[in-house]
Amino acid sequence: MGRQGRWRTGLVSAMVVVAGCASAPVEVRSPDAVVIREQWPEAPPHHESPREWFDAGARVAQERGAGQHDARNLILFVGDGMGPTTVAAARILAGQTRGQTGEENLLSFERFPFTGYSKTYNVDLQTPDSAGTMTAIITGVKTRAGVIGIDSSALRGDCRGTAAATLPSLLHLAEEQGLATGVVTTTRVTHATPASAYAHAVDRDWESDALMPPEARAAGCHDIARQLVELASGNGIEVVLGGGRQMFLPASATDPEYPDVHGSRIDGRDLIAEWQTANPTGEFVWNDAQFRALDFGTLDRVFGLFQPGHMQYSHDRPADAAGEPTLAEMVLAAITRLQREPKGYLLIVEAGRIDHAHHAGNAYRALTDTVALSDAVQVAVDHSSAEDTLILVTADHSHVLNFAGYSVRGNPILGKVSDAHGTLDTDLMGLPYTTLAYANGPGYAGESDTQPEGTKRFSHESTQSRPVTRGRPDLRDVDTTSPDYLQEAMLPLGSETHGGEDVGVYARGPGAEAVRGVMEQNVIFHLLGLAQPRLRAHMDEAGPTAD
Ligand SMILES: [Zn+2]
Repeated sequence: MGRQGRWRTGLVSAMVVVAGCASAPVEVRSPDAVVIREQWPEAPPHHESPREWFDAGARVAQERGAGQHDARNLILFVGDGMGPTTVAAARILAGQTRGQTGEENLLSFERFPFTGYSKTYNVDLQTPDSAGTMTAIITGVKTRAGVIGIDSSALRGDCRGTAAATLPSLLHLAEEQGLATGVVTTTRVTHATPASAYAHAVDRDWESDALMPPEARAAGCHDIARQLVELASGNGIEVVLGGGRQMFLPASATDPEYPDVHGSRIDGRDLIAEWQTANPTGEFVWNDAQFRALDFGTLDRVFGLFQPGHMQYSHDRPADAAGEPTLAEMVLAAITRLQREPKGYLLIVEAGRIDHAHHAGNAYRALTDTVALSDAVQVAVDHSSAEDTLILVTADHSHVLNFAGYSVRGNPILGKVSDAHGTLDTDLMGLPYTTLAYANGPGYAGESDTQPEGTKRFSHESTQSRPVTRGRPDLRDVDTTSPDYLQEAMLPLGSETHGGEDVGVYARGPGAEAVRGVMEQNVIFHLLGLAQPRLRAHMDEAGPTAD
C-alpha cells in the first residue's frame, strides 16, 4: 500500500459526516469533541457527590455576598475556549486594528468592575471539555466530561443512567418562574455549550437521533434537537439563534442554503415544521435577509438557524452564501425581544468558534472571534441598565496558546518577535519566531498526510505526521499575520487541545460584587441564580435529584 493510501486509512472514522457534501462544514464530531480513552469506573477517585458540589457552590456564593442585590435580568456570555492568553492577545489585536499600539487596550468586558478566576476541571478530567464545564456553569454541579445537564452518577453514553442524574438548569428555573429566555450561539444550537442550557444527554454527540446508538434510542433517550423543540419548562425558549439546521431536518429534506446537504434525522420528523406548528405566532428564519426583516420589538418568539452546521467564523462570514447576522446583531435582537418581559429575562450567549479556531491551530480566527464577542458584550452593556441587569462573562476552559518573546511595545500580535528597529529576534539556530504559538496541534512543521513539511495553512486536517527533517520553518519570508497562517505547534496533533489553567470571570450589575477570588466553576450558577429574586426563592428546585 502506498503512503497516501496507508495514511488515508482511518480518516473517515475520525468524523461522522452526516452529509456527503464538501461545501458545508457539517461534520458532527467537531474538532472540539474530546475523545476519552477510558472513563473512571463507577467509583471515581474523588469523594465529592453531586449534592456536595451543589451545596458547596451555594455556600461559596453566599459567603461572597451573593443574593444581597437584585438583578431583574441575567446575561451570561461564554467565550468557548477563551483562556487568559486569548483575552490578552485579542485585546492587543483589537487595539492594533484601530491603529493603537494595542497593549493599553481593554476588551469591553475587561472594563467590568468585578473579576475572579474559575477552576475548570471536570470531575474526571484534569483538562476539561465544554459539555462538563457548561453543565457546571449552568446547573451548579461539577460533572464528568462529555455529558449535558447530567450529574456524575451517570456514565457517559449510558442511557439508563439519565433519569436519576438529570440536573435542572438555570434556564429551566427561569422558564418555570415566568422569565423570558434566550439562547444565542455561533455553533449549532445543539452543540455542547448551548445544549447544556436546556437538554439532558449522557453524550454530547447525541445532537440528532441519527447520532445516537440504537440501544439508547430503544431505551427511550431523546436526542438534543428534539429536546430543544419539546422543552416542557415554562412556555419554551423565546429566542433561539445559531446554527445547526441539519439536526432538525429529516434525512429526506434538502438544506435550503446548500442543495447537496441533507437533514440528519432518521425518525422522519421535521422539527422546524413542528416548531412552527406549535408556535404559530413565532418566526423561523434561516438567512440574513429574513433576520433583518424581523421586528424584535414586537415579535412573540424567534427560531433562527443560519447554517446546516456551525455558523461561520467572524472572518469568513462575508463570504457566506445566504448571509448571517453577527454575534452582536443576534445579541441586540435577543435583548430587544427579551426586555419586554416585566418579570425579567435570562439570556445565554456563546461565542463558540473561538474554541474551534484554536483547535485548528489558527490564532487569527480565534482572536477575531474573541473581538466579535467583545463587540457583542458591548451591545449588551449599551442596551441594558447596570441598575437591573447582571452581565457575567466567562470561558468554559482555556487552550494551549502561548504568548512569548520580548517584542517591542506595539509589535503586531500576530507577527514575529521584533525589537524597536524592526530587527527580528532569532532562536539559537538563527531563525525568527512568532509571538503566538501553540503547545500542540495542526501547526507542527513536519510533513502530514495533507500538507508538506514547513509552515501549515488553515484548514489543515490530518491524521498522520512525520518528524521534521529540515528543522523549524524559516519564517523570514512568511506573512504570519495572514488569516490562514497556522502558528507553530511544538508537537503534532490533528486537533490542538484545551488547556487546564483557570479562566477569567468578569461581571457588571447587581450581584457582580460577589464575583471575586478563585472559584470552582459551578459557583457561577449560584452567583447568577441568587442575584435574581424570582430564581433566588426557588434555588432548592435545582441541584441533583438524588442525594
Ligand atoms: Zn474545544
